[in-house]
Amino acid sequence: MHEPKARVGHGFDAHRLVEGRPFILGGVRVPFEKGPLGHSDADVLTHAVCDALLGACALGDLGAHFPDTDPQWKDADSLRLLAACHELAVRKGWTIANIDATVVVQQPKLAPFVGAMRDSLADVLGLEVERISVKAKTSEGMGYTGDGTGIAAYAVVLMEALGGKESAI
Ligand SMILES: [Zn+2]
Repeated sequence: MHEPKARVGHGFDAHRLVEGRPFILGGVRVPFEKGPLGHSDADVLTHAVCDALLGACALGDLGAHFPDTDPQWKDADSLRLLAACHELAVRKGWTIANIDATVVVQQPKLAPFVGAMRDSLADVLGLEVERISVKAKTSEGMGYTGDGTGIAAYAVVLMEALGGKESAI
């Protein structure tokens, strides 16, 4: 059977924005009066990247691996989840070529923090920062990402075969 040398993965995540929650994106704390509501730290960018990694390997989604009913993931640092997803992908025989992610939210302005987010994700994944793109967009006031109700993130990842036989998990 023909073995693909590369696979693509796509991830999406969204969380409600509420007062009294820290606003953490890509492991970076952004000062803002609201933050994403969730069981873990609700890091929407990191969650989208996790789902892209899992998706590329056809390993299901984040919720299947780290259920939000499990108390060990309450307020968890999502970078830990990302490291675990990356480990699953590596064990399947895949390495990350590049990641491209987009966060959609009206406020706060994320541009000043994008560099730190890229550094943070690169650090956890052991990649050069040039392989990781993070873009911040608004939806021009439209919908739940535009009226302050919520925040969304999308990510795509290209995975390359590490070479050799696919290892069993
Ligand atoms: Zn999430």
